[in-house]
Formats: sequence, C-alpha cells, structure tokens
Amino acid sequence: MSANVFSALPLRPELQTAITTLGYREPTPVQAQTLPDLLQGRDLLAQAQTGSGKTAAFAIGLLNRLDALAYATQALVLCPTRELADQVTAEIRRLASAIPNIKILTLCGGKPMGAQLASLQRDPHIVVGTPGRILKHLDKGSLQLGTLQTLVLDEADRMLDMGFHDDIMAIIDQTSPQRQTLLFSATYPAGIKAVSAAVQSNTVEVRVDGPDTGPEIEQVFYRLEGMDRAEALYRVIGHYQPESCLVFCSTRQQCQELAEGLRQHDLHALALHGDLEQAERDQVFTQFSSRCSTLLIATDVAARGLDIKELALVVNVELSRDPEVHIHRIGRTGRAGCKGLAVSLVSAAEHGRLQAITELQGCEVELQSLPDDQAARGFKLYPPMVCFSISGGRKQKLRAGDLLGALTATAELSGTQIGKITLFDNCAYVAVEQKVARQALAILESGKIKGRRFRVRRLR
Ligand code: AMP
Repeated sequence: MSANVFSALPLRPELQTAITTLGYREPTPVQAQTLPDLLQGRDLLAQAQTGSGKTAAFAIGLLNRLDALAYATQALVLCPTRELADQVTAEIRRLASAIPNIKILTLCGGKPMGAQLASLQRDPHIVVGTPGRILKHLDKGSLQLGTLQTLVLDEADRMLDMGFHDDIMAIIDQTSPQRQTLLFSATYPAGIKAVSAAVQSNTVEVRVDGPDTGPEIEQVFYRLEGMDRAEALYRVIGHYQPESCLVFCSTRQQCQELAEGLRQHDLHALALHGDLEQAERDQVFTQFSSRCSTLLIATDVAARGLDIKELALVVNVELSRDPEVHIHRIGRTGRAGCKGLAVSLVSAAEHGRLQAITELQGCEVELQSLPDDQAARGFKLYPPMVCFSISGGRKQKLRAGDLLGALTATAELSGTQIGKITLFDNCAYVAVEQKVARQALAILESGKIKGRRFRVRRLR
C-alpha cells in the first residue's frame, strides 16, 4: 500500500497543519510506502538513507498516536550519535508544533546527568537519545518505559557498528511488549535481520526502489600474461588506490604470502584465513571493518559471514572454480548505493572458469592488459582510522557508551571522529580518525573509562 498525498492519510488535524506549514507538499517515497502500515500500528523494517525523509515518517507515526494528556513516556527514538539525536528531536518538534503541551527530551552521553535528571522529573512524552545514556537512566530508575507505545531504532546498522547491540537489547527488555517497533537502517546486514526477528513481530518490510539502491558493479578482467600474482595484485592496487579492498585467494598460504608481500611495500594488509585463532580473527576483522586497515586478504571460507559495508574494490587473485562463488565475491563491493568495482586476474589456465562466469552472468567479457607499474611505484595508502584495543569487555561491564562517553567527555573529540566500537567478552576495540589518534590514546590511557585503568594498545 502506498499514499501519494498526505491528505489521504488518517492523520490528526494538528499534524496536517504542521505538514502544510512546513511546506511538505507530498510524501517522499519512504513516507508513501511506510506511513499507511505505520499508522495502523504495524511493526516496520525499512531501508532508508539520510535525506530520504525517514525522520518525518516515524515522527508522524509516533505523534499521531500520542496522548498529550497522559504524562508518561510514550515514544523512544534510539540514535547512534548525539548529532543525529539533535536532528531527530528538531524534526519531531517541528511536526509537533501544532499539538499543545508535548514534552520532548533528548538524552545523550557527554552531557551532564544533573540537568537530564531534573528534566525527567516531569515524564516527557517523547525521549530521543543514544543507547548508553538511555540505559544509564533506566538503571538509575530515572526513566521508565513500561508505557512505551512506539520504539524507533534509527540508523540501526550504524548503532550495531558502534557496538550498541547489547545496550539496545537491554533497553528493549524494559519496554512494554505491546509497543510498536520501527527499525530504520541504510543497509541490511545479518545483525539487523537478527535484531528485527528478536524484537519485532508481524513486520512489514519496506525497501525503497530508486537510483540509490541496488549496487552497480563494474567488472574488469586482467590477463596475467605469466606475471607473478603478487606483483599483478600490487599493480592493481597501485592503479586503483582504493580506500578499502577485499582480496580473495584460494589457500591459507597464498593469503599469508600476499599480505606479507604487500606489507613489505608499506601497505596496511591483513590476512584472514582458517589458521588464525578466533581472537585473532576477531581482531583482524574488526580492524578491517572499522576502516583501520585498507587491504584484507581472505580465503572464501574465512570471508564467509563477513559483513563489510561500502567496499571500494574486490580483487580475485584467482578466479573461483564455481561461478556462483564469483558472483557472491563481487557482490561485496558497491553496497549502500555506491558503485562497486571488481577486478579479476585471469591466467591462461583459467579460461574455462572465465567462460563459466560469463555464461552465468549472460554477458561478454573483455580481457585487458594489466595496468603498467608507473602508479604502483612508491605509492602509499593510509587507512582513514586507527584502532585501539582495550583490555576489558562485556565481562568487565564495559559498554560502547562508556568508551564513547570517555572519548567525548572533554569535548576535545566529537562523536563524529569516533568510528566503530566493538565489544567482546574480555576486550574491546575502538576506531578513531587518524588525525585524533594521539589525543584518543591519551584519553583512553588516563583512566577515565568508568574511572578505571585498562591496558590500551594501538594496533598496527
Ligand atoms: P531525513 O531523511 O529524515 O534526514 O530528512 C531529510 C530532509 O527532508 C529534512 O530536512 C526534512 O525536513 C525534509 N523532508 C521530510 N519529509 C519531506 C517531505 N515530504 N517533503 C519535503 N521535505 C521533506
């Protein structure tokens, strides 16, 4: 079901007034596709990017059922960052402007508790905040969610990337089971599907078709012409100089050798294969997925289940025997609306494999000569982020919000300079932008994480 005009929707008059005042003439595609079900109280899993009008979609939904005379928290919006929480609050306020006496409160980390506790004395109708701080208020008993009607998880994929999974689940545990749950995410990794399955029921799924969805992948096939694969890989990387690159190879040994070869050229390459211990695998994968390493060299088996967003380049050092595996490999580039690039190195002995791939894809392929080695001489690729390992994790009761809070407490660093936070049982990883690495290390080592001192190590 889809609604092409706001006036066709069963909205309270104050909302129609606000929509007209804001000059929203017609619903955006996300709004048109989600509002009819959302207004009926259905749970929703929606793929939507920033700029799609997703905030107004859930804001209209939660405001439409809100009872301003009931002094209890009826809606909660969880956001990954303070900046997004502020934007969401502003949009809800604009849409609520014609409904009298609505109280909206933003609760984010990095802000003094005192003022938040005072504001919570009179139960806000709507709370917008980051998971760590919301959980803190629930633990203190300063916020109650037993009467919650609408729960929104905004930019849910980014919240999971930042390590908020456990906090989110702990928050949801304290909400009413009768609530409506709206989950918005730009991408659909396995983690999002698992959260949806755990916390939603009878869910409507909406993906907005448009030029921004459905990755487009450009494929380039290079003739090896007897060249060593390691040298050919180095040339390819030098030619494209990608920000992130996943290289597939067939054996553990080849993986290790290629990574070592690239490291000798001063490139940040990591190997991921079956010989690694689980803890080593976790670390390698965390470094790569949080953009603290540029190149990941993996076997198909080791790469299974990796969920990495926005890979600039996928390289097949050898063609796969199975054309379906080839399609699966190259499908990892060009996610979230970005155009992807997949490069394959093809030796004379692999022409049979190439033919199987072209038959499956139903298109002709032109073999090209490898780029010359001009670009590959002396180039450097610096990962945008730096990763720190911390000697404490879930078992030490460390949460993503504690790390984010510690890093942003002095206002020297902003939330946008902090990347992925990943928690394991006994350790944690946090990624920060290269340019603030020194300050971040000083803060992490100063014993300000929950007032405790953890061992902190910068990963190379
Ligand atoms: P969002 O994707 O929620 O960040 O929204 C992007 C921008 O679109 C915001 O500035 C909204 O105020 C605006 N917006 C939301 N819905 C509409 C609409 N139906 N018509 C015009 N602008 C809209």
